[in-house]
Amino acid sequence: MSDLASQGSNETKGIKFFKIMFIGDSGVGKTSTLLKMTGDEFSFSGQPTIGVDFRWLTYKMPLRTEPLTLRFWDTAGQERFRSLATAYIRSADAIIVCFDTNEEDSLENLGSWIEEAERIHPSLSNLIIVGCKDDLPVTADLSHSILSRFPWTTVSAKNDTAEDIQRKILPLLHPTFSSLLESWVRVNDQPLVLPQRQSFYGERKRRCC
Ligand code: GDP
Ligand code: MG
Repeated sequence: MSDLASQGSNETKGIKFFKIMFIGDSGVGKTSTLLKMTGDEFSFSGQPTIGVDFRWLTYKMPLRTEPLTLRFWDTAGQERFRSLATAYIRSADAIIVCFDTNEEDSLENLGSWIEEAERIHPSLSNLIIVGCKDDLPVTADLSHSILSRFPWTTVSAKNDTAEDIQRKILPLLHPTFSSLLESWVRVNDQPLVLPQRQSFYGERKRRCC
């Protein structure tokens, strides 16, 4: 297990929770990347994801004393699971959209995944792109304009260590962590997201007048 982040369980909760969702075409390497990043060995015989699965990491962000708990959701890219993924996308704090660096079509499809995520979660600004399988010859066009619009990196679940993958992906999410931490208030050890501009006094006033 790496020193940068270690896989957690329900008992090893950090103080702050972040919900981060992997989406992208089937077969691009989402599950393998997540499993490797959270401590499993890479295997070519990975099982297709059914619906939604999740993993935890406890992560120590530089310059912060409290560890962060990252809850990653892994989705199936197949059409029939998209409606299930919709509910998760709506409540995600950040989205990781994956493509296969060895598969140009999956890079071309990033646009429709991003459009769909933005349609489902219009206030979502926390989106990063991860190109998987970079141990294979890179045939996707990495100068594609979509990659200039979002933070992105490439990884290999086969050759990178868990720590390598964490070092490549997690810093891209630091702005997300920082801005959410600023807007969260702790209530009974659970973070409560206060929508900006919502006024509880305003709500009460409307009801009684
Ligand atoms: P998902 O459908 O996006 O979750 O994709 P998977 O993680 O199930 O991977 C699909 C296939 O690609 C599997 O056979 C994996 O073993 C293989 N794969 C995943 N990541 C890598 C990688 O980094 N390098 C190589 N060479 N193959 C990979
Ligand atoms: Mg999968």
